[in-house]
Amino acid sequence: MTDVQLVAPLAGWVLPLTAVPDPVFAEGMMGPGLAIDPTGDTLHAPCDAQVLTVHAAGHAVTLDVGGGASLLIHIGIDTVKLGGQGFTPLVAAGDRVRAGDPLIRFDLDAVVQGAAAAVTPVILVEGEATIATVAAEGLIAVGAPLARIVVGAPVAADTGAVDGETLRRDAVVLLPHGLHARPAARIVAAVRDSGAEVTLTSDGETASASSPIALLSLGLAQGRNVTIAARGGRAAAAIDAIVALLTAEVDAAPAPAPAARPPVAREAEAGALSGVPAAPGLAMGPAFWLRLEMPELPTMGEGVAVEQARLADGIAAVAAALDAAAGGPGQMGGVLAAHRAILDDPDLRGRAEAGIANGMAAAAAMMTAAEGQGAQLRATGNARIAERADDIRDVALRVVHAILGTKAAALTVPAGAIVFADDLLPSQLSALAAARVAGFAVVGGGPTSHVAMLAAGMGVPMVVALGEAVRVVADETFVILDADAGAVIVDPHPDRQAQARAGIATRAAAEAAALAAGDRPAATADGQAIHVYANLGSVADAEAAAAAGAEGCGLLRTEILFLDRSVAPDVAEQAADYRGVVAALPGRPVVIRLLDVGGDKPAPYLAIPHEENPALGLRGIRVSLARPEVLDTQLRAILAVPEVERCRIMVPMVASIDELLAVREALDRLRGELGVGPVQLGAMVETPAAAATADLIAAHADFLSIGSNDLTQYVLAMDRGNPAVAAGIDGLHPAVLRLIRMTCDGAATRNVPVSVCGGLAADPLAAPILVGLGVRTLSVPPARVPATKALVARLTMAAVRDHADAALAASNAAGVRALARRFAEEISR
Ligand code: PEP
Ligand code: MG
Repeated sequence: MTDVQLVAPLAGWVLPLTAVPDPVFAEGMMGPGLAIDPTGDTLHAPCDAQVLTVHAAGHAVTLDVGGGASLLIHIGIDTVKLGGQGFTPLVAAGDRVRAGDPLIRFDLDAVVQGAAAAVTPVILVEGEATIATVAAEGLIAVGAPLARIVVGAPVAADTGAVDGETLRRDAVVLLPHGLHARPAARIVAAVRDSGAEVTLTSDGETASASSPIALLSLGLAQGRNVTIAARGGRAAAAIDAIVALLTAEVDAAPAPAPAARPPVAREAEAGALSGVPAAPGLAMGPAFWLRLEMPELPTMGEGVAVEQARLADGIAAVAAALDAAAGGPGQMGGVLAAHRAILDDPDLRGRAEAGIANGMAAAAAMMTAAEGQGAQLRATGNARIAERADDIRDVALRVVHAILGTKAAALTVPAGAIVFADDLLPSQLSALAAARVAGFAVVGGGPTSHVAMLAAGMGVPMVVALGEAVRVVADETFVILDADAGAVIVDPHPDRQAQARAGIATRAAAEAAALAAGDRPAATADGQAIHVYANLGSVADAEAAAAAGAEGCGLLRTEILFLDRSVAPDVAEQAADYRGVVAALPGRPVVIRLLDVGGDKPAPYLAIPHEENPALGLRGIRVSLARPEVLDTQLRAILAVPEVERCRIMVPMVASIDELLAVREALDRLRGELGVGPVQLGAMVETPAAAATADLIAAHADFLSIGSNDLTQYVLAMDRGNPAVAAGIDGLHPAVLRLIRMTCDGAATRNVPVSVCGGLAADPLAAPILVGLGVRTLSVPPARVPATKALVARLTMAAVRDHADAALAASNAAGVRALARRFAEEISR
């Protein structure tokens, strides 16, 4: 064992690494260490060392400090973007330096003004070593004792014992600032996740892609050629990810801080607690708080072999249970499949095994692993991704129960109760499905989480993001849950109770009547046909939709079928799923949407480079056009479906007519090649551009379908996955409605039908307005089909046209909702 004493390389404030405003450093992705917020302008050597690299932009240096350990000192955050301005390196790679020797002089003012921060991480990036800060947090002078590195055995030589052939791919570095610390850290993370052994070779030098320092020492500037070689694990996926990182044309930005709890902005009645609607409906009943007890977890293991075996048995038991339940009805089947993929995640298992190797008991190691992964997901700042942390916790809890031989405490919830919870797990929801609860009120959560999807599928209203204020509601307090308004009315006046009771009875009667109407096509009271289709994400959904009387499928989200895949689905695999959906809806049209990945829907098998604004980046049809093989495979799969004439192909995220024409060209070419007859092709209207040019798009489309979820986010400039704006993102905003009117008017010039397949179609307050604006098909979740048909049957065209005109003239979404509530009362009289 050798100790290396480090002295302060900079005058400034000593800080823990966690204070660095960049998760790549703060979360230790680059390695352990500390940081200094500089007050001085010269970086000095913290110990005797050899200079390994000085970044071309002069802002970072790596040092070999002996014993196989290396240090990275990175002046400021995002300083690579300064392009070397203000930095004067005083040493070069290969120089030997003594503690205190000046390494880099820099213009502190320029760093403070031009970079994200001046805070300078000092990171132990390589070697079997630990680093301990000896200085107290606070001001430090250059040369004062700072930290100690305890160096152990040098890193073991690479054994190269990974099975499989070696895959190779050449790439050219497009990163504007070359390969610097952050993309290097992401490459290392991607390689770690893939389980592959990967090297990068450039100009005759080879570096292990598991080592950030080795990658940096390649000095890869923009324009350099690199050969990536990978074998074992998910070698192809690792190469895809690395190519994407090296060829990103913008540098990966530090992830934003997690979003704050949403403001309570939705207009609510007096005395009501406000949240965000997650599954529509109205319910009332006694409050029941779900309090879950975590089983007692033994922390110390009984030996590595024993605990590894327990972990393996626990995972196998849960895998068998999930497999047995897979293919279950509707959305629940999809969630179970997603949970199966989480269970197979080598990173989760690897983390748990590492915990056991450090002496932990299997159950505690599994829970710790899940919390670690969950924290990483939350740190992405992407609310949709963060919501998956609940699924990971849920899977881990199942494994814990399997290991301990315990059972999750039986959820004995009184029938008819409104269940209050901090957060709900998908498995709890499935357990509660049998308990016939009336509604869900959740302190946290998000409107796009799996549990929200499940609640909507169960037909149980849910309000999420109610915040801490909801804790005042005591068990057994009588409440009304108005999930359409995102409100909980606590201890309501008897008159208000009577009003809610009447509302619930009306809905129940309407649903019963609609179910009784079965497959009868929907029409307004005065005879206008309004088709009610279903939105699907699986074959099981298609079966549920058929049972609910859906007249067709208005949106098959094909990306959901393959969301958990690490390898792109081929023609045969895709065709099998499409065939299953088409077969489940005999004689009815099926709108198959081309892959809509990117943005908030990452597909692990398609490496999309990190983007500063993913919602405005490579998503929807832009991905398929950028990767013609993806489009080709999907079109071939659709054309292989028997009765393909019942299929309609829908293009997502169209912003320009050229995109639709490019798809039509590919479709016609393949139809010619395969000898298939005409197939309808339509465009989604999800961008303001598509709405404003609906007449032009309609000239080349067989149908238009409004994706109101995305249209709303783009019109209002509010991220649909960000809970901080969840309360304001309302598709009934007059701006959104005016664009829907524009779409219907534009389509009418070409006699092209317009449907709505976004969430607005399933909102009972919105549907009459949509019909009044000219929409002729509403595509809703399968569970909403009967109620939507019943609602349509109560409308008359003259009334909805007047209602739509009034809505367009309202001054805000709350005004439209007030009008819509009055309209709903009138038609239910
Ligand atoms: C929409 O944006 O409204 C839509 C239907 O597409 P998705 O929700 O899948 O993005
Ligand atoms: Mg969309």
